[in-house]
Amino acid sequence: MKFPIYLDYHATTPVDPEVLQTMIPYFTEIFGNAASRNHEFGWTAEAAVEKARQQIAHFIGAHEKEIIFTSGATESNNLALMGVAEMYQEKGKHIITSPIEHKSILDTCHFLEKKGFSITYLKVDSYGQVSPESVRNAMTPQTILVSIMAANNEIGTINSIGEIGKVCKERSVLFHTDAVQAVGKIPLNVESMGVDLLSLTAHKIYGPKGIAALYVRRRNPRVRLTPLIYGGGHERGMRSGTLNVPGIVGMGKAVELAQKEMSEEVPRIQRLRDRLWEKIQENLDEVYLNGHPTDRLPNNLNVSFAYVEGESLMMGMKELAVSSGSACTSASLEPSYVLKHIGVGEDLAHTSIRFGLGRFTTQEEIDFAAEKVVCIVKKLRELSPLYEMVKEGVDLKTVSWAAH
Ligand SMILES: *Cc1c(COP(=O)(O)O)cnc(C)c1O
Repeated sequence: MKFPIYLDYHATTPVDPEVLQTMIPYFTEIFGNAASRNHEFGWTAEAAVEKARQQIAHFIGAHEKEIIFTSGATESNNLALMGVAEMYQEKGKHIITSPIEHKSILDTCHFLEKKGFSITYLKVDSYGQVSPESVRNAMTPQTILVSIMAANNEIGTINSIGEIGKVCKERSVLFHTDAVQAVGKIPLNVESMGVDLLSLTAHKIYGPKGIAALYVRRRNPRVRLTPLIYGGGHERGMRSGTLNVPGIVGMGKAVELAQKEMSEEVPRIQRLRDRLWEKIQENLDEVYLNGHPTDRLPNNLNVSFAYVEGESLMMGMKELAVSSGSACTSASLEPSYVLKHIGVGEDLAHTSIRFGLGRFTTQEEIDFAAEKVVCIVKKLRELSPLYEMVKEGVDLKTVSWAAH
């Protein structure tokens, strides 16, 4: 085993060796600009780009002309929201989203609010799900866009995208979904799900960083977007700039692999995730699952450990590369906004750990991780007077200082 053990596949993934091999020639021999129309170098590059476009389109049930390449899902999300807002503002200035979207959605919404748009942040339930009914109820004649993520990057909860899509279709409101975490984990089809815009990114599915796509519906209805970037009219005018050919080729390959491996890989990873959760539950009490018990990504486990201190917990797990529910990097030490919105208290949010499994996770690693977590939590609890009192049956509500 190599240490630290990588269990942060929601943050990013390593490039699959097969993806890398496919990319390499496009840095050197096949270096042409895909927009060069007058010679072989350009044609070869363009052919490679178009192949990748088809691979990606095919995977989500789209037409290749509906795939726009961008620099990341952050850009895809910005383009979807800003592009629709700018293009359709005559029709209305109301957008519906959820408060637990990725920051690239939320920060864009905050910017649009400053520009005079009104944004509804729908309440999510205690699992982090958006009810299709709440989407319907929030709609007004001014609503131009609904943006709801397919699966959450922290707690792994999956939304009923098809149901939400149906509501949007009924009202002829455009529907965008950030499907970054869902791609390769659950089946996605823009037709059957009624999706008009969909964001995906390569580096979360074993492709390279810095390349992503936005699906933009071309028929029923034809979606038009005001670009964020001008200069040359690439990508049907929606995203100018010389294409990142090696990145695009890598993304195409990554999608091809995801499609090929999904039926075998997803159950394998899910078994490992379930094994980790079982081992934690068998050996520890006062542990809480965050997110939906079944409508969740197969590779996600998000758990709060009561009666330990968040920072000590992370410090004790240096051999595991995981994420915690408190943003230790920021000076403020704010707990996760996602956990806050699903009603997890501040204490439990600070002691939550996100385990993100992936293609290269082994059973040996999972068994080590489980043992490590159990061991450190037990050790920290031995130092916790609160935990001692709970074990002795003291009702903490009667202890005045316990709240602090
Ligand atoms: C990682 C992530 C993004 C951002 O993607 P980048 O390609 O890194 O810009 C957006 N949404 C979700 C849900 C993510 O997990």
